[in-house]
Amino acid sequence: MRNLALRKPCVMQFAPPSHCHDNDISVRTTVNLTRFAAVLIFRILTVILTVASMFASASPAAAQRSVPIVRDAEIEALIADYAKPILQAAGLSQSGIEIVLVNDHRFNAFVAGRRIFIHTGALLTAETPNEIIGVIAHEVAHLAGGHQHRLREQLARAQTMAIVATLLGIGAGVAAAASNQGDLAQAGMGLAMGGSEAARRSLLAYQRTEEITADRSAIEYLERTGQSGRGMLITFQRMAGDLALAGVNVDPYQTSHPMPRDRIANLEVLVKQSRFYDRVDAPALQLRHELARAKIASYTAGQNAIARVFRKNPGGLPILYADAINSYLHGNPRSALAKVDQLISAQPNNPYFHELRGEILIKVNRPREAAEAYATAVRLAPPSGLLQVGHGQAMLATGQPDLVRRAASELKAGLTSEPEYVNGYRFLAQAYGQLGDIGSAELATAEGYFHAGAYRDAKVMAARAQMKLKRGSPEWVRAQDIIEFRETGRK
Ligand SMILES: [Zn+2]
Repeated sequence: MRNLALRKPCVMQFAPPSHCHDNDISVRTTVNLTRFAAVLIFRILTVILTVASMFASASPAAAQRSVPIVRDAEIEALIADYAKPILQAAGLSQSGIEIVLVNDHRFNAFVAGRRIFIHTGALLTAETPNEIIGVIAHEVAHLAGGHQHRLREQLARAQTMAIVATLLGIGAGVAAAASNQGDLAQAGMGLAMGGSEAARRSLLAYQRTEEITADRSAIEYLERTGQSGRGMLITFQRMAGDLALAGVNVDPYQTSHPMPRDRIANLEVLVKQSRFYDRVDAPALQLRHELARAKIASYTAGQNAIARVFRKNPGGLPILYADAINSYLHGNPRSALAKVDQLISAQPNNPYFHELRGEILIKVNRPREAAEAYATAVRLAPPSGLLQVGHGQAMLATGQPDLVRRAASELKAGLTSEPEYVNGYRFLAQAYGQLGDIGSAELATAEGYFHAGAYRDAKVMAARAQMKLKRGSPEWVRAQDIIEFRETGRK
């Protein structure tokens, strides 16, 4: 699991950061804003921000700059497997659907365009695949129902700009309050009070209708795929319960999904009617879910969280997996290696145990064995550019010319399917450099800058590369594309 090195700070987020809906707004400003109003406002704001980001048709690079993305072959493959039958049932082709893992401990999941965004916190919270599958079904229903599109029309009809300005004004106010900038907060609140209450109410009513429609469609998809709606119900009940408690940390999913009692009650009736109500996830899928949670817990939450998450299964593979990752992360590679070997003997065909073994072996400077471990992972896993980059990195580390040559082609192949994986270009540049192909090395560096959004550096490097590349060759043409790229326009 790797955090992407993000060049730019979060500019716009799909959901407001937690400090934006802190409880102590009234302490910081003189504006008398009740907590309920704040939640309500953020509910709307979240919708607006989500919609705005959808219709900005942002490039993946831009999307990745706005949310803290983590990349992990294992978890992405798992979510893809959760989503695939649901997307089929919804009549949406699964081809080209991209899973985006957001490194955030709060519960959230949403679908935007062809991307499914899942917070790591949602996976950590969900005890079964069915809970996540239910949420995906609900989100896919919004997508299939064209809700994003209709919401935009609705906004247009209700004098979009005025409302958006008003709502963003409120958002600025609350955010400013949280960061203790009183004047800005006052200005934001001033904007808010001038807004159209009627428009706001109609927007909420509209959202409510959409939610009920999405619930019904989601249940249909689950029914068609022979799955229970219980997980969706559990998630929504938990959200409703949490909201009622008015806890400090309101999950973004909650703020974008009003959970009134009658909605939950209706959903419960429908879910319990299904003949699949009692059906549980296949044991193998349940185990994969727990392994993913073990990984997330060890990377993001620490030892106590791991023990808490797996208190019912203290001797199982997930705990061993978490232990192995922990040993690796905390500088005890030997112990990590012993644990990963235990994991592999329990599940020799689990590609991600071999991937972890490869990572550890790179760390202890045994690159040849690391390359073998990664080769096994690549062979066992569904196609994954991330694993190919890992494999290439290990071969590169051997420094042996034949392996370095293979590293260059494996890295190139991995980056072709994962062009936004900016860390990979550094290894590709090194591989070309070791092979004496300086033009290609500079082009790889230019690509890295380019996909990180550092266009100026990318152009400088592409121009340098071009001087060494054969005029008219595919590499030369690519360098030219980078040089001619205009940030505001399309390529
Ligand atoms: Zn919804």
